[in-house]
Amino acid sequence: MTCPLCHQPTTWEANPWRPFCSERCQITDLGTWAAEQYRIPGLTLTTEMVRPEQIDKEEEEKDEV
Ligand SMILES: [Zn+2]
Repeated sequence: MTCPLCHQPTTWEANPWRPFCSERCQITDLGTWAAEQYRIPGLTLTTEMVRPEQIDKEEEEKDEV
């Protein structure tokens, strides 16, 4: 079989990093997965931070009028 990350020949049996060929490829794949997971919460936080500011502006305008 071949490593899904670097496509180099690797063995499945007695391989602690399977399906990857080495620890380096396994860590690289986990790092890519973690980076993709962090993108979604980051976008949600940005959207939630904008909402309170818009509500405050509307309330301030009402008080002035
Ligand atoms: Zn590899």
